[in-house]
Amino acid sequence: QKVHSDHFIQGHRELPRLEPVSAVRHKSSPGLVLAIGGNQMMPGAIRLAGEAALRCGASMLAVACHPDNLSRVFNGRPEMMLAPDRPDELAKSAVLDKAKALILGPGLGRDDWARELFDFAVRQPVPCVIDADALYLLGQAHQQTDLPAAGKVRVFTPHNAEAACLLGCGSDEINRDRFAAVKAIARRYQGICLLKGPGTLISDGKTVWINASGNPGMATGGMGDVLSGIIAAMLLQLGDPLDAVRLAAWLHGQAADNIAASQGLRGLLASDLFPELLRLVNRHQ
Ligand code: AMP
Ligand code: MG
Repeated sequence: QKVHSDHFIQGHRELPRLEPVSAVRHKSSPGLVLAIGGNQMMPGAIRLAGEAALRCGASMLAVACHPDNLSRVFNGRPEMMLAPDRPDELAKSAVLDKAKALILGPGLGRDDWARELFDFAVRQPVPCVIDADALYLLGQAHQQTDLPAAGKVRVFTPHNAEAACLLGCGSDEINRDRFAAVKAIARRYQGICLLKGPGTLISDGKTVWINASGNPGMATGGMGDVLSGIIAAMLLQLGDPLDAVRLAAWLHGQAADNIAASQGLRGLLASDLFPELLRLVNRHQ
């Protein structure tokens, strides 16, 4: 597709940089991420998203997941705190009070448990990354004109099929004009949209950025969950949410590119990105 003057290809030189870590930093800074998802049979997605947030600089992480998954989500990562998985309890919890960003959706599912958590979380006045099943639920809420009030930072991270849910069309229609689709989602849902795929697009509804990093080795399960965690961590560390999403997309793709340069494209796992992300976030400052 043609690149118009309101479309920018982003290499790392034009991207915002992270602040060096202050000598007197306290763990309350840059803050706590609350990740919500991980329904029955889907423990991995929320674990990947949460771990990515920690590796990219979130100073604390709490996870609300289905009680059946506790051991699978938390095993081997004692740094993760447990959050209540019922809205009434979550409403009273200290972690919600402290949360500076939410991740809503990885492995969330679409059943009653998921819907109740979604309805509660999407209304919280905290910057929120909305991914995966939460995008499906958001699309449904919109059709019922039950869209929660705007006025806070929202980031939507659909792949093609999820974008189709959000716009109430088919995936082929998204593919026909991805630039129009990413803008339309940002406008309709009043936030920032990151449309995944080869040539990830990012838009605030006006301008579109094309992310220059990434490779087809990333087409493996869990890769998008890692991205939602990176975005949450960047929302904590950069003042401008659009900067945060643009930098997150670049870091995600670049981590995969660095691994692919030595290993090749086959067999790349989402969790392979963690050591590379740790290196990149400490260099890109
Ligand atoms: P998800 O579909 O949610 O697991 O997300 C997959 C992630 O991998 C997204 O960030 C995509 O942009 C990325 N990805 C998938 N396939 C490709 C590809 N062929 N080239 C570049 N990035 C890709
Ligand atoms: Mg996904």
